Amino acid sequence: MIPFNKPYLTGYETKYIEQAVALGKLSGNGFFTKKCQQFFEENYGFKKALLTSSCTDALEMCALLLNIQDGDEVIMPSYTFVSTANAFVLRGATIRFADSETDTPNIDASKLESLINKNTKAIVVVHYAGMACDMDAIMHLATKHGLYVVEDAAQAIDSYYNGKRLGSIGHLAAFSFHETKNIISGEGGLLAVNDIQFCERAEILWEKGTNRSAFFRGEIDKYGWIDIGSSFLPSEVTAAFLWAQLENIEKIQNKRKEIWHFYNDALQELSHKKCVLLPKVPDYATSNGHLFYILCRSQTERARLIQFLKEHNILSVFHYISLHTSPYYKDKYTGGVLENADRYSETLVRLPLYYELEIKEQQHIAASIKKFFST
Ligand SMILES: *Cc1c(COP(=O)(O)O)cnc(C)c1O
Repeated sequence: MIPFNKPYLTGYETKYIEQAVALGKLSGNGFFTKKCQQFFEENYGFKKALLTSSCTDALEMCALLLNIQDGDEVIMPSYTFVSTANAFVLRGATIRFADSETDTPNIDASKLESLINKNTKAIVVVHYAGMACDMDAIMHLATKHGLYVVEDAAQAIDSYYNGKRLGSIGHLAAFSFHETKNIISGEGGLLAVNDIQFCERAEILWEKGTNRSAFFRGEIDKYGWIDIGSSFLPSEVTAAFLWAQLENIEKIQNKRKEIWHFYNDALQELSHKKCVLLPKVPDYATSNGHLFYILCRSQTERARLIQFLKEHNILSVFHYISLHTSPYYKDKYTGGVLENADRYSETLVRLPLYYELEIKEQQHIAASIKKFFST
């Protein structure tokens, strides 16, 4: 069976973990944490980068930093992972779900203005499949209405909007290093701060509401409890694992993009015959090889395709169920039908994409999909 995902190991993970153990400091914010954070601050242009235990944690930090309170409203796409919404719901926010674009699962910027009112605090965008949302339109709208923008860049490492790195455009951004993402540490994430007004407080929330980081830098002579916070930082074991991946990011990215392009080329013919829709990459966006999806013509066709591929030893999977229709939120949802989000919920299927997926396997997958649509 060709799995849907297989975590890739560079071979240096255990070596760096041994090194972290030998250094004798295994809690967070040590040698490897600093190396990883410096990597992002230097190469990605973030004002501050803080490793977290997950992208979910980084999103929860965003909600805390923006002081989200009961009754505040946050706009985000319905077609996304639960954590995008949960982080803000935990602070008492009401979520205003927006539809996806017709051509991509990303939030439709043209549908946002009607959702904004005096309670609106923030817009959270999700760069689905690592492909950029229409950031100029979204930032313009946010500036006009005095709103903050958070980028859920969980899938968007090393991807760009008009040459700008995703995660560096909104006021805050969150990345994931979960084992299903491009760069991994088992569980893991990163908070990126682009608006300097949040830098100092981000570090305090991260260290349980204390100014311990400033103390360790020698900036103050004792530290204490000065704000709310939690333990968002990962241990050095996780950071050491992540460093082995970051050192090889170019190699990993090149391979994933190569596989993405293989699928995109191999399935053009089916797209011309209108059997499937392939991912649309807007002019301002890039693909970072995070995931490759195709859109079937109906939910039943998708179910048959997934079953057919299974019979050919290929595991393909669908993705999100729109959050506005979820058991938890459907009774709270007061908006209208989100037809694009629902269409992606029903027709999108993801193909296996991982570093070690061999060319023979890629060919077998493409051939099997073609066979399905020829019968
Ligand atoms: C993976 C993912 C998350 C959650 O990441 P974790 O690191 O598992 O918390 C959040 N949002 C999106 C869009 C994701 O793809």
